[in-house]
Amino acid sequence: MMQQYHALKAQSADCLLFYRMGDFFELFFDDAKAAAACLDIALTARGEHGGNAVPMCGVPVHAAEGYLARLIRAGHRVAIAEQVESPAEARKRGGSKALVERAIVRVITAGTLTEEALLDARTANWLVAVAEAGGMAGVAAADISTGRFEIATVPLASLDAELARLGPAEIVVPETLEAAPAGAIPFSPRAFDSLAAETRLKALFGVATLDGYGRFERAGLAAAGGLLAYLDRAGQGALPLMQPPVARATADHMLIDAATRESLELTCATGGGRKGSLLDAVDRTVTGAGARMLAADIAAPLMDRAAIEARLDLVQRFERDPGLREGLRSALRAAPDIGRALGRLAAGRGGPRDLGQLRDGLGEARTLHKRLASLDDRPPLLDETAARLAGHGALIDLLARALVPVPPVDAAQGGYIAEGYDPALDTLRATGGEGRRAIAGLEAQYRAATGIAGLKIRHNGVLGYHVEVQARHADALMAADSGFTHRQTLAGVVRFNAADLHEQALRVGQAGAHALTAEAAHLEELTALALAAPAAIAATADALARLDVAAGLAERAAEGGWARPGFTGHPCFEIAGGRHPVVESAVAASGGRFVANDCALSEESRLWLVTGPNMGGKSTFLRQNALIAVLAQAGSYVPATSATLGLVDRLFSRVGASDNLARGRSTFMVEMVETAAILAQATPRSFVILDEVGRGTSTYDGLAIAWAVVEAVHDMNRSRCLFATHYHELTRLAERLDGLTLHHVRAREWKGDLVLLHELARGPADRSYGLAVAKLAGLPPPVVARAKAVLAKLEKGRAATGGLADGLDDLPLFAAAAAATPPPDPLRALLAEIDVDALSPRDALDRLYALKRAA
Ligand code: ADP
Repeated sequence: MMQQYHALKAQSADCLLFYRMGDFFELFFDDAKAAAACLDIALTARGEHGGNAVPMCGVPVHAAEGYLARLIRAGHRVAIAEQVESPAEARKRGGSKALVERAIVRVITAGTLTEEALLDARTANWLVAVAEAGGMAGVAAADISTGRFEIATVPLASLDAELARLGPAEIVVPETLEAAPAGAIPFSPRAFDSLAAETRLKALFGVATLDGYGRFERAGLAAAGGLLAYLDRAGQGALPLMQPPVARATADHMLIDAATRESLELTCATGGGRKGSLLDAVDRTVTGAGARMLAADIAAPLMDRAAIEARLDLVQRFERDPGLREGLRSALRAAPDIGRALGRLAAGRGGPRDLGQLRDGLGEARTLHKRLASLDDRPPLLDETAARLAGHGALIDLLARALVPVPPVDAAQGGYIAEGYDPALDTLRATGGEGRRAIAGLEAQYRAATGIAGLKIRHNGVLGYHVEVQARHADALMAADSGFTHRQTLAGVVRFNAADLHEQALRVGQAGAHALTAEAAHLEELTALALAAPAAIAATADALARLDVAAGLAERAAEGGWARPGFTGHPCFEIAGGRHPVVESAVAASGGRFVANDCALSEESRLWLVTGPNMGGKSTFLRQNALIAVLAQAGSYVPATSATLGLVDRLFSRVGASDNLARGRSTFMVEMVETAAILAQATPRSFVILDEVGRGTSTYDGLAIAWAVVEAVHDMNRSRCLFATHYHELTRLAERLDGLTLHHVRAREWKGDLVLLHELARGPADRSYGLAVAKLAGLPPPVVARAKAVLAKLEKGRAATGGLADGLDDLPLFAAAAAATPPPDPLRALLAEIDVDALSPRDALDRLYALKRAA
C-alpha cells in the first residue's frame, strides 16, 4: 500500500494527497502533519516506514467538503486519490490480498473550484495564467465555476493593474518567468506555447480561426496555453466548462493601478473584505451573478461613451419606473444561479438539483422575456438583453416534464425523475410499491398466524427485510416447521426471515435497483442535452445578471437621490453636490449629516489645491470625486445632484506615507515610487488625486517634493488633479500656475472650540488650526497650553526669517527649469512607440517613412 501511496504522491508532490480508504480520506507523513494542524484534527500513527511510525490523519468522505474548504482557504492544494475499482474487482484480478487500484482523479486548488460550498456566491473565482512574449505580458483568466474566459495582452507595466482588476484566486506562471507576481504557482514553461495554444483553442471551440472572438496576440495566447494545461492537470484531462474567449484590450477600460484600487477601496476595503468598499456601498443586486457582474463593472469602468450611455439608459428606465423595478427584482430573487449550475454540470460534479436550477432559472428568464418585451419605451440595451432571455423553450419543457419539483442534490437515492416521464420507470416504481404493500400485508398475516401482536417487519442495510419479535416470543418461531428461519439474536429481540417475505423483498429490491439505473440513465441524457449549447445558457445567465445590475443601480440611485452623469468630449469634471457614498452612510449612522460639495475642473482650472485643518474633510472630498468618475464610467448614477465629465483614461490615487504605516514597507519609498508612476503615466485625460504627498519625510524635503510634484502634474502631465496638503506654503503656487486654483475646507473657532464644517470654499485656508484639532482630540489642557506658547515663539522666529517658504518666489518656473535639461530626442520617442510584434509589413514601411521624416 505504501508503494502505491508513494507513487501517487510523486505525481502530486506540491499537493496534500487525500488517499481514499473505505469511508475515509487518509493523509500520511508531512501531509498528515500539515492537515492535522490546519484542520485541528487528531494526528495518529500507523505501521512504520524506515523504522519510524508513519504520521497519519483522516477525514470522513461524507464530510470532506468542509475540510477541503478550510485547507484551500489556508492556501493548500489537494490531490484526490480515489479507489478506481471495487474490492471485489481487485480480488478477481489479484487474489484475496490484492490492493484496490487507486488513481488521482482531481487536483483541487483555489482557482479550480466549482463546489457551491467552497465558493462565494457573490464573487467571481478567477484562475489566471501569466506569460511574457515579445516584450508584452499575456494574461489568460478563467472562472470555471461559470465558464467565463478572457485573454488580454498588455504592456508589462500594466500587468499589475490587470491582475488587480481581476483579483485572482490563483495565478500560474511559467517557472522561467522573471518578476513573477507574489504567490504565483510555477508551472512547466513548455505549456506556455502560443502556437500550440491557438491550435488547441480552435479545436476546443470548433472554429477555423479565433478572429470571430476578437484579436489575440502572442503573449495572451501563450498564457492561455498555460491556463489550459493547468486545468488539464486539475481535472486530470477533463476540461471544465469554457466559454469562447473574450479578447480584452487595456484601452477598453479606465486604467486603475493596484495602489489606486487599494487606496480608493473600490471592491475591497483596506481591512480586507467587502464591507466598507465602494462596491458594498453601491451593491443592491439580488443575485450572486448580478453581484459578480457589478464587481467586474466597477473594477473596469468603460472608455466607450456609447456603451456607458447604453448602460445608463437601462438604469434610467428602471429608475423612473419603481413598479417595473420591484417586479423585476422579486422575479430575479427567485431565480437560481444558472451560470454556476451549468459550471457544476459541465465539470461532471452536477446533480439533479442543478438541472432543476436550470429549469427554474431559464423558466424565470422566459417569463421575464415576455414581460420586458411587452414594455413600451425600451432602450436598446433592454431589447438586446431581453432577447437573450428567451429561446430555451424545448429544454425548459423537457426538464419540467422529466424532473420532480424539488430534485435532490445527490442522485444516489433516486426519486428525482417525475412520474409520467418514463412509463417503464413508472412500472418499476409501481412494482416496488406493490411489493412494499404486500410486505405490509404480510406483517398482519404473520401476527395472526403466530398470535404475536408485537411482531414487526423491519428493514436495514445488512439483513434487508426481516421479521422481528421480542426475545420472549422467539421460541415459537424457532421451531423447524414454523416457516421462519433464524437470522440474528440481539439483546432484546430476535430476527427471522420467511420465504414469502424473501420473495416480496426480492421484488422490491430488484424493482428499486432497476428504477435507480433507469433514473441515472435519464440524468445522464438530460445533462448531455443541457450541455449541448452552453453558450446560449451562459448568455441568458449574463442577461439576467445585467438586468439585476441595472435594477440594483436604479434602486441605489433612487434610495440616495443620485444623478445620471453626463459626458463631454473635453476633459472637464463638474460635480454639483457631490457626496462620498461610504463616508456618507458612516456619518449618517452616527447621527450626523454629510455636507455635499461641488467640484469644477476644466482645462483652465485643472488643478485644485485643497488646504485646511486635519479632519476637515480633505481626503473625503478627493476620494468622492475619484469614486464618482469610477461609478459614472461603470454605467452607474452618481452621488451628486448633477455631474458632467470628460472620459477619464487613467485614474490615480496616492495617499501620503504616514497614512499607510500598516503596510510595513519603507513607506516614504513606496510613496515616492507610486508618485513617480503617476508622473510617468498620467495624461491630459487622466484624473489624479494626491493626498498629503510628501509628508512621509522631513518638513523641508516634504514641502520641496510636494511643490515639484504639483508643478510637474500641472505643466507636464496636465491631468485633472485634486491635491490636498497641509503645507500652507504651497498656496503660493497659485500665482505661478495659471491652471491651479486654491480651495480649503472650512472651519471656525467658536468659544475656543473648533467647529469643522466639512464645507469646501474658494481660496486658501486662513490658518492651520493644528492646536484646535489637538484639543478636539483630547490632548490634556496643560499640553495644549504649552504647545500654544511654543507656537508663539516659532511664529515670531518665522516673522523674523521669512519662514519655511522664504525665497521660493524667486524660483524659475518649472517649465523653464525643465527646458534647461536637454530636450527629449524625437527619434527615440518615435522608436519607443513602435510595438514590433504588432506591426504589419505595411505598417513597418509607414513607420520607416515617418522616422525618415523626423530625422
Ligand atoms: P482630512 O483629510 O481633512 O484630515 P477626512 O476627509 O479624513 O479629513 O475627514 C475626517 C472625518 O470628517 C471623516 O471621517 C468624516 O467623519 C468627516 N467628514 C469628512 N467629510 C465630511 C462631509 N463632507 N460631511 C460630513 N462629515 C465629513
